[in-house]
Amino acid sequence: MIYADNAATTKLSPTALAAMMPYFTQEYGNPSSLYDFAGQAKAGLEQARSDVARCLNAQPGEIFFTSGGTESDNWALRGVAEALGKKGKHILISAVEHHAILHTGDWLRKQGFEVEVLPVDEYGVVRPGTLEKALRPDTILVSVMLANNEIGTIQPIQELAALAHANKTLFHTDAVQAAGHIPVDVQELGVDLLSLSGHKFHGPRGTGVLYIRQRTPILPLILGGGQEHNRRSGTENVAGAVGLAAALTERCATLEEDMARISALRNRLVSAILRLPRTRLTGHPLNRLPSIASFTFEAIEGESILLQLDARGICASSGSACSSTSLEPSHVLLAIGLPHEVAHGSVRLSLGDDVTEEDVDHIIQSLTEVVNDLRAMSPVWDAVAQKPTW
Ligand code: PLP
Repeated sequence: MIYADNAATTKLSPTALAAMMPYFTQEYGNPSSLYDFAGQAKAGLEQARSDVARCLNAQPGEIFFTSGGTESDNWALRGVAEALGKKGKHILISAVEHHAILHTGDWLRKQGFEVEVLPVDEYGVVRPGTLEKALRPDTILVSVMLANNEIGTIQPIQELAALAHANKTLFHTDAVQAAGHIPVDVQELGVDLLSLSGHKFHGPRGTGVLYIRQRTPILPLILGGGQEHNRRSGTENVAGAVGLAAALTERCATLEEDMARISALRNRLVSAILRLPRTRLTGHPLNRLPSIASFTFEAIEGESILLQLDARGICASSGSACSSTSLEPSHVLLAIGLPHEVAHGSVRLSLGDDVTEEDVDHIIQSLTEVVNDLRAMSPVWDAVAQKPTW
């Protein structure tokens, strides 16, 4: 099997698993307990916090462990909205955000906030001029993701955050797809809040981080026993935090080499697949995650391609049916201006860090055959092939 769906989730790293094991079997104390036995669990948690902080160029006191990217995104938006709701009600998010942001935006609208959606260009980029025009004196928060999960586009976060700050507005970025795949430095990016998810970089599922810059006004999302300095209650998932930190540290240690190697293989895949007619790469051609190759194939359904790839032992995904049973094309593909019928023929391949040239060549051969076979059977292919390209 070739697993080319690493943007959905990744295999747990053996290093992360080994780091976690003692916290399940021996050091199982509750880090909040006062007796000596809990000390090792507390030390493991704090070491994980320092390790994550080092990878992000943050302070340990700015790292808060959560249950994943979804919680971190919810917390960033709801926590800031609640803390600053008296100052202003205007929040800006981008059209290509994950549903963890979009649905939180819907919820905030019901609470009386004005959540405005920033459009993107044909590559999925929020142009700085678009943000500049949308900012208002009552804008309290901007949230734009660092890298997109469907098309891989990397946003100009540094510029966008600087514009928000010039307007005295806080800036959050969802870095769930970026961390462990491209450099993520909170000082360079200039963000106030940043979300991570462990399972996107070979850490355990159900683990995440919200980076909160010192003195950022934010209220807790989860109330209870006052853990995480009273900001995120719930008995700490020590093994999870340790696994997340070990996986992130491991990824960051070889980031530059991995990026170069995976980008080269991704480019090999993209240029071979783009030889097929009526086929496009979605997302920015250059400013994109090394691992993501995302395409649209006219006249065929993304799901049909996935089933055929699955039969050939290749795991991939499609943006057309999103994560639910809905047959609506993905909001990301519509936001970049694709017509519905084109968006329905989308496929995303997200390569793992252990991907080989042979794997890529096998994907190229299989995908080419599948697309040609399906088009040969498609009742609309001949008509589509005659049409001018949109
Ligand atoms: N944000 C982005 C960009 C994602 O791709 C995902 C997961 O696919 C999430 C947030 C949610 O993360 P989690 O699965 O850890 O809740």
